[in-house]
Amino acid sequence: MSTQATQTDSDTYTVVIGLEVHVQLETDTKIFCGCSTEPADEPNTHTCPVCLGLPGALPVLNEAAVEAAVKVGKALDSNIPEETRFHRKNYYYPDLPKNFQITQYDNPICQGGTLEISHQDERREIGIRRAHLEEDPGSLQHVGGSIDTADYTLVNYNRAGTPLLEIVTEPDFRDPEEVRAFLAKLEEVLEYLGVFDASRDGSLRVDANISLIEGDHNTIESETLEEANRTEVKNISSHKGAEKALSYEVTRQKNALSRGRAIDQETRHWDESKGITVSMRSKEEEKDYRYFEEANLPPLQVSDWKDKLSIPELPDARRERFQEEYDIDAESADKLTTTKQVADFFEATADEFDPGLAATWVADTLLGELHYRDMIITDVDDRFDEFRRLIELVDNEEITEKNAREVVLRTMLDEQKDPDTIVDEEGLGKTDDDAVAAAVTEAVNENPQAVEDYRSGEGDALNYLVGQVMQKTGGSADPQTVNQLLREELAD
Ligand code: ADP
Ligand code: MG
Ligand code: ZN
Repeated sequence: MSTQATQTDSDTYTVVIGLEVHVQLETDTKIFCGCSTEPADEPNTHTCPVCLGLPGALPVLNEAAVEAAVKVGKALDSNIPEETRFHRKNYYYPDLPKNFQITQYDNPICQGGTLEISHQDERREIGIRRAHLEEDPGSLQHVGGSIDTADYTLVNYNRAGTPLLEIVTEPDFRDPEEVRAFLAKLEEVLEYLGVFDASRDGSLRVDANISLIEGDHNTIESETLEEANRTEVKNISSHKGAEKALSYEVTRQKNALSRGRAIDQETRHWDESKGITVSMRSKEEEKDYRYFEEANLPPLQVSDWKDKLSIPELPDARRERFQEEYDIDAESADKLTTTKQVADFFEATADEFDPGLAATWVADTLLGELHYRDMIITDVDDRFDEFRRLIELVDNEEITEKNAREVVLRTMLDEQKDPDTIVDEEGLGKTDDDAVAAAVTEAVNENPQAVEDYRSGEGDALNYLVGQVMQKTGGSADPQTVNQLLREELAD
C-alpha cells in the first residue's frame, strides 16, 4: 500500500477527494423505536429500552425513514434494489449502548447515482457510490476540556437512533471548492424533498477522504485511486468547514510529499477552532468491524416503493422552467429556486400578479432586505400572507413601488407590523386623482417663474414643478401621472 514518494514538484499532483456525508433524516420518531427525534432540553429523556440497547429490546423499522431514503435515491438517480438488508457494525464506544450500530453493508438501499454541480461556470457530475440507512449514536459532552483533556465525559442518548442516511460519493472531486459546491447542492435537493432540516445542529456531518496522486487527472487509473494512501478527515460539520479542512490537508500533504515523506493511511480529526487537522489513529479496516446480518430485521422488499413514492420538481428543473414560463433571467431564477419555500412563494405570486413584478419583488427586494438584516426565508415563513398583500398593493397601484420597498417592507421587517397598518399609519395610500389635480393647479399658480421658463423651452423647469407636486402630495402621487397632468395644464 505505501508509496514511497520522491522529490517532486507539488504542481504535478492531482487532488482526489471522496465524501461520506451523514444526513439526519427528518422523521418524527427514531429509526428503530417510537422515541421522538425532537431536540430535548433534558439529556436522556427521549429514550427507551430499544435506543438504550437494553437486553431483549427489539428494533422495529420506521417506514418514514425508508421513504425518505427512497426519495433521496430517486433524486440522485440511484438504483433502488429489489431487496435491502441491515447489518451490525460491531465496535465499542460509550455513545453506542448496544456495542454495535445497525447499518447497511452489501445491500444498501440506494446504489449508484449522480449529482450535478456547477462550479466556476462549469457543470460537473459527481458520482454517487451508494447511500445506506443507519442509526445515529448518542452524543458525548466532554467537560472541562476537549476529547483528550476533559475531566470527565457525559453521555446523552437522546440522539441515539436518529435515522441517518450515509451518502458515499465516488472520488470525483478535484479541489476543495467543488466539495463546498456539492454540499450546498445536496442540501438544496434534500430540503426540496422535505427530508432534511439544515437549521438543525449537526444535521449534516462529513467525513472527507483525500489523496494526492502524481500525474494529470485525466490519466489516473481506478486501480491507482484504490491503491493510493489517503487520509480520512472526520468531524466536519459545515460546507465552509469542509473546504477549509481539505485546503489544509492539500497543503499538508504537498509539503510532506515535497520533503520526500509518504502519506500515512490514517484518520485525522478536523479542529475547527484551530483550523488544523490532527492525527487520531491509523485508519480502521472493514474487517475490524466484524459485520454480520442483523437477524432482528428481516430483509426489506423496496423495489416497488420507488414507483409508489413521488418527489417534487427538483431545483435544476425548476430553475429552467421559471426562466421559460415566467420569462425571467438566469440570475433571478437562481435566487428564486435555492429553497423550495421561496420558489413556492414566488410561483404563487407570479400566477396571481404580474410575473415580472413578482420576480423583482421576491428575488431582489424581499431577499435583499432579508439578507441586509442577516435573516433567511425561514425566519419569516409565517408572514407569506403579508408579503403577498404587499405585492398586491403594488400590483393594484395602491402604493408606489418606492414606498412599498423603502417604507412598508422595511417597517414590516423591523417592527413586525402588517402592510395595511403601515400604509394607514404613514398615509401612503396613493392620493386620489382630484387631490393630484388640485396640487398640480396649486404648483402652477405658486411658481410663475418656473411656468415661464418651461414655456420658453427650459426642460428642467418641468422637473422642478413635478417635484413641487410630489411634495404637496407627500410622495404618494405617481410621478408619471403628475408629469402628464402638468404638461396638459401648461399646454393652454
Ligand atoms: P472505506 O471502506 O475504507 O471507507 P471506500 O472504498 O468505501 O473506503 O471509500 C470511502 C470513500 O473514499 C469514498 O467516498 C471514496 O470516494 C473515497 N476514496 C476512494 N479512493 C480515494 C482516493 N484515492 N482519494 C480520496 N478519496 C478516495
Ligand atoms: Mg468509510
Ligand atoms: Zn427509543
